[in-house]
Amino acid sequence: MLHVKKEDQVLVTGGKDRGKRGRVLHVLPSRGRAVVENINVIRRHTRPNPQKNIKGGIVERESSLNISSLIVICRECNEPTRVGYSVLADGKKVRICRKCKGTIDK
Ligand SMILES: [Zn+2]
Repeated sequence: MLHVKKEDQVLVTGGKDRGKRGRVLHVLPSRGRAVVENINVIRRHTRPNPQKNIKGGIVERESSLNISSLIVICRECNEPTRVGYSVLADGKKVRICRKCKGTIDK
């Protein structure tokens, strides 16, 4: 189980966007990577392709980051935190904040 999930708020601890915060757009579990909104944005030069209705020019899009350089920000205390796990009475596994003990998964 990865500590980062889609829609999490995360703090970036590595790469060119170190120190920034963003929302996880998607997670690529098999590669151990995640894409975070407005983080690690790369510019891609694309060629026009009228058949596919592609205009060409410079496209900016997020590139994936290694999950190990992301720290989850707790929704309860708004602090970057290490994630702990807890099993609820119904058997559901949830992530908890190690700082405030709040539940990260809703
Ligand atoms: Zn917390």
